[in-house]
Amino acid sequence: MSARILNGNLLRDQILSEVKSEVAALSAAGLRPGLAAVLVGGDPASQIYVRNKTKACDQVGIFSETITPSASTSTDEMLHLVADLNRRDDIDGILVQLPLPSQVDAARVLLAVSPKKDVDGFHPVSLGSLVTKRPGLVACTPAGLIEILKRSSIPIAGRHAVVIGRSDIVGKPVALLLLHENATVTICHSRTADLPAIARQADILVAAIGRPAFVTREFIKPGATVLDVGINRLTDASEVRRIFAGLPEKLTQFQSKGTLLVGDVHPKDMVELAGAYTPVPGGVGPLTIAMLMSNTVKAARLRRGR
Ligand code: NAD
Repeated sequence: MSARILNGNLLRDQILSEVKSEVAALSAAGLRPGLAAVLVGGDPASQIYVRNKTKACDQVGIFSETITPSASTSTDEMLHLVADLNRRDDIDGILVQLPLPSQVDAARVLLAVSPKKDVDGFHPVSLGSLVTKRPGLVACTPAGLIEILKRSSIPIAGRHAVVIGRSDIVGKPVALLLLHENATVTICHSRTADLPAIARQADILVAAIGRPAFVTREFIKPGATVLDVGINRLTDASEVRRIFAGLPEKLTQFQSKGTLLVGDVHPKDMVELAGAYTPVPGGVGPLTIAMLMSNTVKAARLRRGR
């Protein structure tokens, strides 16, 4: 039987169209949700990320504003800027695009964002709400992973979920979300002993590591659902040949572009063994922006008690 592809682009479109209706209803009541993006300096990747986020706002009718302090900005300037956005009534969500320049204390700036407007879900108060299952804003990528499972009718309760990666922004929050959905959850990391054997027990395997094609066939139980969070840009031709051997269209793609995206899971092994999987690109990535839109609407509702 061939593996089922969990198509992130389709799920994203579904979520965005639901968010659009909610935004229209709130706007009709005079409560149009608003998102402020703070983009410091000229990092090209950050510029693309922020542009994609504001494009999504336009698509669903959320008001958006991009604030662009210069690359030489200070921690104090950033703190003032955040305080101002915290006070503004037309702004429901504040997004500080990372990385920040080295002279800025990023942790202090993120801590200054009001938890009510923390649409990235990175604030310790948001994480605390998640741990204790209180209403709050949940980090977008982990929330997107749960949406993928639920909207694809993949059962979670009673299943063994193995999460590889323990970062504050992906691994830990997704493990908590899976736990709240009554999965039995194992969190693995760089010091886990016999990782493949533990991963192979998973009915739901989440890879959030940041290492190209690290998860290979000995990690995957046949029929498991595999969610590949990794986004790794390959630039080395020999690595591309190693990972994509037998997939000539990928090699041609690499030759024309000079780079190629690959997840944390070996694509061929995943297709051959998984029961369902998210491809890279077009799997988990598109959900992240959709959940940011959904979080902005949620923030607007929570802040206004609706
Ligand atoms: P991170 O570097 O903060 O954390 C990586 C985790 O992987 C760590 O907890 C570490 O313990 C674990 N790890 C590293 N090497 C390991 C090994 N050899 N064996 C087992 N575990 C190991 O990364 P992150 O921010 O959690 O992101 C992980 C990946 O997900 C990256 O590729 C990133 O680009 C991607 N990402 C994608 C999205 C999206 O929208 N799809 C969003 C966020 C992150």
